[in-house]
Amino acid sequence: MTALELIGLVNQVLFIGLFVAVLVAAVRQPTRTRLDALLLFGSAASVVILGRLADWLGFSGQPWVGSVTLLLLNVAPLAMLRLVDDFSDSPRWVQMAGLVAFVAIGILGFILPVTNETVLIATMAFLVVVGGYAAVAFARQSQRTRGITRRRMTAVTVGAGAFIAALLVAFVGALDPDLAQTTRPVTQLLALVAVSAFFLGFTPPRWVRLVWRDPDVRRFLERSTQIIGVTDDYAALTQMQAAAADAFGANGAVIGVAVPERGTLRYAARSGWEEYPDDLYVGGRAFTDRRRVVVLDSAAFDPENVEAYRRVGARTVIASPIVTDGEPLGVLTIFASRAPIFAEDDLWLLDLLASHTGVLLEARALSAQASDLRAREDAARLKEEFISAAAHDLRTPLTVVLGQAELLQRRILRRPNEPPDPASIGRIVREAHRLRDLVTELLDAQRLEESRAVLRFQRVDLRQVVQTVVERHREYGATLEADLAALELSVEADTGRMEQVVENLVENALKYGGDAPPSIRAWAADEQALVSVVDHGIGIPEPERERVFERFFRASNAHSITDTGIGLGLYICRRIVEAHGGGIWFEPTPGGGSTFTLSVPIARRNAEAHGMTVDPAADAAPPMDAAWNPTPALSTDSAHADA
Ligand code: ADP
Repeated sequence: MTALELIGLVNQVLFIGLFVAVLVAAVRQPTRTRLDALLLFGSAASVVILGRLADWLGFSGQPWVGSVTLLLLNVAPLAMLRLVDDFSDSPRWVQMAGLVAFVAIGILGFILPVTNETVLIATMAFLVVVGGYAAVAFARQSQRTRGITRRRMTAVTVGAGAFIAALLVAFVGALDPDLAQTTRPVTQLLALVAVSAFFLGFTPPRWVRLVWRDPDVRRFLERSTQIIGVTDDYAALTQMQAAAADAFGANGAVIGVAVPERGTLRYAARSGWEEYPDDLYVGGRAFTDRRRVVVLDSAAFDPENVEAYRRVGARTVIASPIVTDGEPLGVLTIFASRAPIFAEDDLWLLDLLASHTGVLLEARALSAQASDLRAREDAARLKEEFISAAAHDLRTPLTVVLGQAELLQRRILRRPNEPPDPASIGRIVREAHRLRDLVTELLDAQRLEESRAVLRFQRVDLRQVVQTVVERHREYGATLEADLAALELSVEADTGRMEQVVENLVENALKYGGDAPPSIRAWAADEQALVSVVDHGIGIPEPERERVFERFFRASNAHSITDTGIGLGLYICRRIVEAHGGGIWFEPTPGGGSTFTLSVPIARRNAEAHGMTVDPAADAAPPMDAAWNPTPALSTDSAHADA
């Protein structure tokens, strides 16, 4: 046996083997696609079998063998045409024309000898035109689809391409017998490629489907774990749906979430939430019956809602209820415009995705509950923190006030005529002031925390704010260096609140700043007015720096200076500055110490005076109240200068 004969034999065995495989699949589940695939493979296999029989029985030279072979061969393109229609839309006239051509050439093959040039050319034209049409149709379909469907369509495109190539080469061999030696093995090889590719595309065996699906299923699982963290329900569901549709290479997927109190299913549709009675559509049926539903033709299954299915391209629909712990949570529906997208063994995947979706929904519900609980715990902890801070920090001055007052009382009772001790009274007054400041700070922090503080915005020169604070401290004898911009630093701000912030920074700089006098600087940059307070004191230990603006935070080295702070000042500063649309941050001063800087957006006209370009879009900025209140923490009052 020559190598060529061997290839030929292997080919024939494969053709027949594939035919048997498709036959078994079609008997198990006789869908239209499987029957059409059976026609295709049956054509190849029957040509092979007829050839063999003719050889064995010695009638291979008979003209009717040629005619029948031609007829059987032409069944292949006809089957391809039908398969094109199974997987994408092909006009009716194309199908009809194919059938007419098939019959015409068949009759021609019986009237004229098959070696007749007219018959040969007509057959060749039929094969090439139909094969080419199928190749283009499948290539376009593969562009339009995703996942496993795309892989299948690519295989079919390769098959159709190889099919035409095989025929062309065969006919070249038939027209020029000198080339037959070369063309025959090439034809055999191409035919093998075509049949194998068709087999993979039209009736992929289970293991091929598993391998092809693997990356998509993996991606679904990867994407789905991220979905747990997505806070917006709508976004989470649409992402989950897209992942499920991709895993199937289907047109789309929808997840209906049960709303038991209303007897509905809620869907994240393209245009927003939509709610339907929980027995509507294929999904509703799966949900109420608590079982998987497979519908090959939605129009036949649910004629009343044809329009709804057509709108989303849902001809074939499969749906599986989402159940966790025996509780129906909803339903996962996957749909495609073409039936063959789904195969029998896809249904395990549907069930898998449905139960995975159930786990995800449950996880989301749990994490929502958990964050609810956390919020409540946070609120409770906040209250506790306030109470314990108040208890701790009010106690010291209160003890002093009480002690001194009792002392005075005893003295007056013992020696009523003696004048009271001014030092004691001074101590009482000082501690009472401290007490008042602490209470104010506590209340203020709580108001800011609960968004109850009101801001009154007006146009102010930030240099003026700084100047006021500096002068006040100088009056009390503090040494402060100030370096203020030459030009006005006009900002929209609550003057009292801004003073409070600067005051706090300066007080801290004096408190924690050591012997070297702190300095304060005000300037403009990048459309911001900035104020820096620089000291050369104890600084803040590196690992604690990012926490300085937290509520009740005191650095570990603060106690070496004083025990009077409660760690609310900087927290309050941050809330106020943020409510002005600005920011505040800490940097270590080179050589030691702290630098605190705050920034607030500079007013428009003023920005231009500082030589800055201003975004024209800012003209369309929302009204002051909204624009100046980027954090909802503070409510604002629109009593600004322009009003
Ligand atoms: P406190 O009332 O404790 O001063 P603050 O909120 O004003 O509260 O400051 C929080 C903590 O940040 C302080 O306890 C201190 O540890 C640290 N801190 C603030 N300003 C300075 C500074 N200028 N130098 C060093 N540490 C500072």
